[in-house]
Amino acid sequence: MSYHIEHKDYKCPHCSVFLIPYKKDFRCPNCNNKIDEYFDFVGEMIISLKRHKQDYGTYFPAAWGTYCLADHIQFIIFILFDGIAKQGSNELKDYTVDGEAYLQKHIKDIVADVYSAYKDEILKDYGIVNQE
Ligand SMILES: [Zn+2]
Repeated sequence: MSYHIEHKDYKCPHCSVFLIPYKKDFRCPNCNNKIDEYFDFVGEMIISLKRHKQDYGTYFPAAWGTYCLADHIQFIIFILFDGIAKQGSNELKDYTVDGEAYLQKHIKDIVADVYSAYKDEILKDYGIVNQE
């Protein structure tokens, strides 16, 4: 089964934009106020990547529905990381994200953190030997 990260849409208590407080001492990417909540999105994302690869052979699962911001970010990461494996080098190429400016930056920051935590595993997951 596809693994949806359980994170209800969260709004900044100061400016009400949607966000995921994915690290400690996180500041809202829109108003820069400190957010007291914390949710381990990176850890959850790694569980999701591993489970999908095992069950489907790719990070993108057999079916996927996007119902919240966490689903949306998972969707982007599945496509990017499967793409990295297909190109045979664990380099994250430039990509675009839709949405308001704060949200584009927020999503790219999260993707960058997941990528730096997981990039060494991507080619291994795909059984590709990295030729330095
Ligand atoms: Zn805010």
